[in-house]
Amino acid sequence: MDVINQLPSPEALLEELHRVVSKPIRLMVVCGTHNRAILRYGIREELPDFIELVAGPGCSVCVMPTGHVDAFVKVARQPDVITATCEDLLKVRGSKESLADVLNEGVHRVEIISSPRQALELAYVEEDKIVVYPAVGFEATAPSIAETILEAAQNGVGNFCVIPSIRLLPPTIDALLLDPQLSIQGLLCSDHINTISDTEAYADLARKHSLSCCIAGFEKAEILQGILSMVKQIHRGESMVDASGAMVYSMEETARARRVVEEVFFPTETAWRGLGSIAESGFVIRDELALYDATKRFNVRFAEGTDQCMCHCNEIISGRALPPDCPAFGMACTLQNPVGPCMISNEGICAAYFKYKLESSRFSRLDV
Ligand code: SF4
Repeated sequence: MDVINQLPSPEALLEELHRVVSKPIRLMVVCGTHNRAILRYGIREELPDFIELVAGPGCSVCVMPTGHVDAFVKVARQPDVITATCEDLLKVRGSKESLADVLNEGVHRVEIISSPRQALELAYVEEDKIVVYPAVGFEATAPSIAETILEAAQNGVGNFCVIPSIRLLPPTIDALLLDPQLSIQGLLCSDHINTISDTEAYADLARKHSLSCCIAGFEKAEILQGILSMVKQIHRGESMVDASGAMVYSMEETARARRVVEEVFFPTETAWRGLGSIAESGFVIRDELALYDATKRFNVRFAEGTDQCMCHCNEIISGRALPPDCPAFGMACTLQNPVGPCMISNEGICAAYFKYKLESSRFSRLDV
């Protein structure tokens, strides 16, 4: 994997953006990490007024529906189970409870880990327990989860399994873009999408919805270059994917990642918090590997139902609102007392708005 392109400075890119933009342009920033970086660098304030940035569904914890969290909690309460989860997921509530509630009861073990590999390592050590990994993430996480399952199968590790809750972004973005009110003209996508959903899926979206698309890294210059590329495309009336600023994966890397994922998973309809059920937007584990599927092993289903969050996360992750539009933002909902997943998750845009806009303005007022 290589990084290409020597970019101009952020100042030069901003100067060019101010020079070239000549009409209102609405862009969706799909990925939570991009949204956070944009707030950290203060990019919104530096852009021309004509450019509006809205958020997309690219925060995997923010889109986790209550039925899936309920399944995580139910499995976590099974005898001899250790749940190995990322920290971000801990406080997200299902219909009644979260994994943090299970942890705080002190009866069942919930361990914080940062990769599926660590969950498998825990299974090697805790031979008389069953280690369950709630696999939450987008398509970019699928290869490492699939590799971990295959390693467990090859080594005959029977005390490890996964709750498959991976989501695929392109079908969901496609569904969102069908709403003409949204008026999105461009998609800023993160460069770690490349291995699985690759540029072809985004090229299809660009053609179908007549929009520009850019795959970019997370540095300030990379983000600005991506925005500039989309603005130029829109002015020229083009609908394509510019991946020139992205990480480049070799054909072998991409083919290998795809092979591993296809060996373990196949696509299925799945629910997204606040967005409903979307065809082919999730993965299930193949029957041959049923031992590693915790939903089959513990006979747990993902219940359908309304996501009982009083917050406006669904509008925010679908580009219809920004955190300050939510009446609870900074009042009933803060980083210290988060109400919805967009404030709970580190990748959530409400958390980033609170940290980089609200808190910093409060501190600067105190400094005066
Ligand atoms: S500020 Fe809180 S309540 Fe409002 S949308 Fe964001 S997470 Fe939900």
